[in-house]
Amino acid sequence: MDHFAQVFTNLQQPAYLAGAVLFVAFFATLYYFFFKFLKTSGATAFIKISVPLLIGFGLALLFTGGEVNKLFLLLPLALVLFAATVYSVEFKSAIWRRSNLKMSGSKYAVKNYSEVEVGNCIDEIIRALQNMSKNDIGAIIVLSSNNVPERILESGVEINSDITSQLIESIFFPKTPLHDGAMIINGTKITAAGCFLPLSQKENLPKELGTRHRAAIGITETIDVTTLIVSEETGIISVAKGGNITRYADSELLRKTLSKFYWQDAR
Ligand code: ATP
Ligand code: MG
Repeated sequence: MDHFAQVFTNLQQPAYLAGAVLFVAFFATLYYFFFKFLKTSGATAFIKISVPLLIGFGLALLFTGGEVNKLFLLLPLALVLFAATVYSVEFKSAIWRRSNLKMSGSKYAVKNYSEVEVGNCIDEIIRALQNMSKNDIGAIIVLSSNNVPERILESGVEINSDITSQLIESIFFPKTPLHDGAMIINGTKITAAGCFLPLSQKENLPKELGTRHRAAIGITETIDVTTLIVSEETGIISVAKGGNITRYADSELLRKTLSKFYWQDAR
C-alpha cells in the first residue's frame, strides 16, 4: 500500500509523471507490435517467443530480489489472456487431438479384416462416390477407426450397417433426412450419418470450397481420419487428410487411399 501511495505522490512531480507516461507508452507500443506479430504468425511462434520471455522475466525477478517494477507483473497475465483469446481454437484442437489419441489404439483396436471383406468395402465405396459424382450428389464420408469423438457421432444418427454403394447413395440422396452432414465409416461398417463436423478455420482455401469441404478438412485437422468428399456443385471428388485436401481424385487415388486406410490406419 505504501508503495502505491509513494507512486501516487511521485506522480505529482512533472518529471516523474512524464517518465511514467513515456514508460507506459513505450510498453503499450511494444505490446501492440508484439501481439500483432504473434496474431499473424500462429501459436507456435507465440510459444517460441513467450517461453524465453517468461524465463528471462523470472530470472530478472530472481536477481533483483523481487524489486522489479510491479508493472512488469502484467506481462505473464497479458500473455495468458492473449493466448486464451487469440489461440482458443488452436488450443482446443490440440487438447482434442490428445484425448483422441488416447481413445484410438486402446481396447477399441480394429480387428483383422479378411482380404475379401476389405476388397468389397473398397469397391462399394468407390462405386458410390463415382455414382454420386456423376449425379452431382453432395457427400462427406469419414474413414475412421473408432477415433471419432462421441459428440460428433451423437450429432447424427447411429446406423451400424454393412457398407454397400446403394446404402451410401440413398443416404446422401437429396431431401432424405440424413443426406445433410457427414457419414462415419468405422472399419467395415457404416456407423452413423447426418453428423456435424468441426469446420476448418483455414484462411487460404480456394473460394469454391464451401462449408462441406471446410467440414471435411476440419475433422482431419483435429483427429487422424481421412475424409472423402463429393461436391454437389461440380461432382468433383476430393480426399482430405491431415488438414490437406486433394481435389479431382480419380479411381486410382481413391483405391490407394482406401487400401491405406484398411491395411494401415484401421488396425
Ligand atoms: P458443394 O461443392 O457440394 O456445394 P461446398 O463446399 O460448396 O460443397 P456447401 O455448398 O456450403 O459447401 O454445402 C453445404 C452442405 O455441406 C450442407 O448441406 C451439409 O450437407 C454439408 N455441411 C455443411 N457444414 C457441415 C458440417 N459442419 N458438418 C457436416 N456437413 C456439413
Ligand atoms: Mg456449395
